[in-house]
Parts: sequence; structure tokens; C-alpha cells
Amino acid sequence: MPEARRVVVIGGSAAGPKSAAKARRMDQHADITIIQKSPDLSMASCGYPYFVGGTFDNRNQLLSTPTGVIRDPKFFMKAKGIQAITSTEVTAIDREKKTVTAKHLETGEVTVHPYDKLVITTGATPIMPPVPGSDLKGITTLQSMRDADYLRKIRDEGNIKNATVIGGGLIGVETCEALQLAGIKITLVEMLPQIMMFLDWELAKLLENHIKAKSADVITNNPVVEFLGDNGKLTGVRLKNGTELPCELAVVATGVRPNSALAREAGLEVGETGGIVVNEYLQTSDPDIYAAGDCIETTNLITGRKTHAPYGDLANLQGRVVGQNVIVDKPVKFPGTIQTGICKVFDYNVGATGLSEQSARKNGYEDIVTVVTAAPDKPGFMGAKLLVMKMVADQGSGRLLGVQCVGPGDVSKRIAAAAMAIHGKLTVADLTVADLPYAPPYSPAIDNLIATAHVLENKMTGRMKGISSVEVKAKVDAGEDMFLLDARGPDEYEQMRLGIGEVLIPLGALRERLNDLPEDKDKEIICFCKISLRGYEAASLIEANGWTNVKVLEGGVMAWPFAREK
Ligand SMILES: Cc1cc2nc3c(=O)[nH]c(=O)nc-3n(C[C@H](O)[C@H](O)[C@H](O)COP(=O)(O)OP(=O)(O)OC[C@H]3O[C@@H](n4cnc5c(N)ncnc54)[C@H](O)[C@@H]3O)c2cc1C
Repeated sequence: MPEARRVVVIGGSAAGPKSAAKARRMDQHADITIIQKSPDLSMASCGYPYFVGGTFDNRNQLLSTPTGVIRDPKFFMKAKGIQAITSTEVTAIDREKKTVTAKHLETGEVTVHPYDKLVITTGATPIMPPVPGSDLKGITTLQSMRDADYLRKIRDEGNIKNATVIGGGLIGVETCEALQLAGIKITLVEMLPQIMMFLDWELAKLLENHIKAKSADVITNNPVVEFLGDNGKLTGVRLKNGTELPCELAVVATGVRPNSALAREAGLEVGETGGIVVNEYLQTSDPDIYAAGDCIETTNLITGRKTHAPYGDLANLQGRVVGQNVIVDKPVKFPGTIQTGICKVFDYNVGATGLSEQSARKNGYEDIVTVVTAAPDKPGFMGAKLLVMKMVADQGSGRLLGVQCVGPGDVSKRIAAAAMAIHGKLTVADLTVADLPYAPPYSPAIDNLIATAHVLENKMTGRMKGISSVEVKAKVDAGEDMFLLDARGPDEYEQMRLGIGEVLIPLGALRERLNDLPEDKDKEIICFCKISLRGYEAASLIEANGWTNVKVLEGGVMAWPFAREK
């Protein structure tokens, strides 16, 4: 019998165990070892915010199989025949001898492990803002089981009154919700002009408004410049504009950088993103060494550029590919990512796939077309919830480039369908006739994703002239002379209104009230309603009666991100 192939995996959280388990399924005789720095294995890090926030109480649920068995070294050996060594850090890779050197973090014992194929899945490390005071007690990240245990203890003890979350990305907003639910007063601080950079500003602002409505404060465009302390303990943070926020706890969530030092020291190629360079088989610059997960850089399938995409789904998918490639001769590929992400923040779901308008422009797409829609996610009689969606497409080819969606409705399936459309390089026209599942408990007869494609197609073909909320606000602020028409009913207008100088002419009354419109047929008229469907119908009617410059406020009142009169 040929000698068993020796596979050593460095890192034992997501990508590592996935690659080891897949390798085992491919080869029952391989000698597979996972060397893991943390004391735990296979931690469901994406679940940390929900443990901290009290969605569940038993931390072992983060470490268990669906049937409740903890994934410890005994489990790995018994169930999978994989040796898993914990609390042990790999300190060096010797590519000539094909060995790794590891050190036990408690005993200091040094061991050497030979390999035929090596897998690096060392993950990423949180970036700390380079400001004074970052060593004060009370400053943490939420990256490890230890961090999760620390924050959960804080929640359970109930002594902390004020906390600052620094960074408005996925982990920052999830942490904000978790701590706010624990009864701690939260301020979320973001140095950029908006939270959630995978969204465009207007959708991020809707989310910010929702977080504020849940009594957490959000401060944007204002970086933390100092942690303030007394006797070694955090007492507050100072922002660039001089504001001081008193707090006993600060959670830093300002992004992560790939753990690629070990690979770099071994002479493996590391890219400009800081991630380990791999080919489409996830092979590093050494053909016997593979890498996967947060420590690598991958290709953005839309732009073709290298990117660092630290997502749990990608780590698992890549781990599975590597697990095959370390065993079989005919390797499988991981072509790249379109950067799909989703999270929940209080009652809102937030997701995006592909390029936002700002990322498309940054990547050199100039001839793009976008639209924002707002609509219920199912019929009203089934308990509809709002979804605000933005779609980005290439005007010339019609190719779908990106979709973002926020709101209390079912964001997940819209983003999933959009992600597959982008993967398949579909056009907006393809989407307008897509056959998605429909029954009243799940969606309107024309799903929100398809309806948004319809509106975008109307815009692309010139049937509808849309105008964004941001453009309308700029016109209002500049005092531009235009006619703003709210086509809703008087009751709706009484309950909620923008208060930007609009005239209420309900759609049903418009035919009789055309005389109330401007005499100048070339004057700019901007129509809207709750979600701008009646606004669109009003615009068509007005245009058909000779007015030439009629636009529709995209998404209507529900997608208006600015302060309203009511
Ligand atoms: C709070 C939180 C919420 C998240 N939510 C989501 C989400 O909802 N959706 C999503 O897609 N992604 C989410 N992520 C991201 C996701 O968890 C990561 O992308 C994923 O865990 C990456 O897996 P990985 O195996 O590459 O790295 P990691 O999970 O970081 O594991 C790497 C492991 O390598 C070990 N290690 C490092 N260096 C060495 C060494 N020299 N020797 C031995 N071992 C070493 C470390 O101890 C670590 O356990 C979240 C992350 C966090 C922290």
C-alpha cells in the first residue's frame, strides 16, 4: 500500500476544518493534522453577536455540530480521523524540508510536523486605530471566542451603562444591536461619511435612521483620535471634532487584515491587499502549499481586480476546494467573489451583492444606470414589510452590476437571486422576465427584484425619467424653481410628508386638476407618492398632456433618507 499522504492544516476555525474534513472524505487513508492557535476549534464566529446579545445562552452552541456534539479534538479524531492540536501556534514553515514548527502556547513545547501538502488558513486580525490609549482596560474587539465571552459577561453583569462601537461595518452594526439589546447605551462612531460602505449613501442613511430610531446614536464622518482613561481604565473616547463620548466600554470593529506574516516569512507571495496570493486552484506560489479564507486575496469577478473578502461563506467554500485539491490530481477551481454580504440590524435586514454605484464608479464604470425602488415584500393581506432596493447596471451592455436592499422585509432571498444573476452575467432585460417562485406568503406576484428591474428598464429605455432623493434634496437646498407633486391621498399626506414645498394632488384627482400644474410646459415637475408607483403614473399622465420635463422621485417617501416634516 502506498504511504499515506500527509496533509497539515494551519488554523482550525472555518476554512481549516472545512478543508481537512473534505480532504478526509476524498481520501480515507490520508494523515491529516489541524494545528490551531486558539483553544477552541470550528468556532461559529458569525454567531458571536447573537451570543453577546442574548439570542442564546450556551456558548457551546457556537462550537457544536447541528446534533449538539462539541467539535473538540476528540470529536475530530473519532468522527473524522483527523488529529486536531489546539492552543498551538505554527511559528515557521520550512519549505525545503517540508515541515512546520509549532509551539504549544501553555507548555511552550515545540513540535515539528512534516507535510506533503500544507494548507494555510490563518484568518485575519482586527485593525486597531493607531491612536493614544488603545491599551486601556475596557477596549476590545469581537473577533474571538474570548472576546465573545468577555462581552457576554459584561452583558450578564449589567454594570456598564455606556459603550462606543467604533466602525460602522457589518461587525460594528451587529455589535451595536447586541449591546443595545443588553441595555447599554450605544454610540456607533464611523470615520467615513456613512456606515456600511457596501451600500450607497442613501440606503446606508436609511439604516442609520433605523438604528437611531432604536435609541442608539450614530456619528459619521468623525474618527476617534484618542481613548481617554483613568487609572488604566477607559473613561471615554475623543473624536476628531473634539466631541468626548463618556463610556466604560469600546468595541473596535474597524476592519481586519489578513494573517499572512507566516506565509510571507516562508517566502510565499503576498499581494497588495495584504492577502496571500493564490491561483484559481487556491495554490500559493509554492505548488505544495494551498491557502484559503480570510488570509488570502481573491479575484472580484466583476472588476477582475484582487480583493480581500473576509466572509464566512467564502472561507468554507474555499476550504472545500482546497480539501479536494490537496488530494486529487485533477484540481477544482475557486474563480473568485462578487462580494455578497448580509446582516440584520434591529428590525432591518441589510444586504448587497456586486457593485454599489460608488464602487462601480471607483472601478472605472462610467456609463452606469441606477434606480432606487421601495415596495412591500408581499401582499398587504399577508403582513407586508417594506423593502428599499437599489439596482446598478451597465447602460451599454445592460449587464446587472449590483443590487443593494434594506428594510424589515425579506432581503435575503432578493440578494441571493440577484447574486446568482450577477454570477450568471445576466442583463436587466433577462431579469425583467425571470421566473422566480411566487405565492402570497412569500412575495408579490412580481417579485421586488424583478419589479426593480422593470423600473430600471423603463429608465434605461427612456420611458421613465427618474431622479434620486439625493439630487432632489440638492435642488431643494439650492432653492431651484421646480414643481414637486405628491400624488398620494390627503390622509397619507396628513400622516407623513416630506415638507419640501410639494403640492398634494392625489392621482385620482389629477385628470381634473391639470390646470393646477405650471403654465410653463417646460418647467421641471417631480412626481412622487409613498413608493413612487402613483408618482410614475402621475408623471406619465402629465407628460401625455404636453409637459416636457417630468421626473419621478425614485422610491418616493419611503426611500427618502433625509429628515421629513412629518
Ligand atoms: C463577529 C463576527 C461576525 C461575523 N459575521 C459574519 C457573517 O454574518 N457572514 C459572513 O460571511 N462572515 C462573517 N464573519 C466573518 C467570518 O467569520 C470569517 O470570514 C471566517 O471566520 C474566516 O474563516 P477563516 O478560517 O479564514 O479564519 P478564522 O475564522 O479567523 O480562523 C483562523 C484560525 O487560525 C488560527 N491561527 C492563526 N494563526 C495561526 C498560527 N500561526 N498557527 C495556528 N493557528 C493559527 C486562529 O487561532 C484562528 O482560529 C464574521 C466574523 C466575526 C468576527
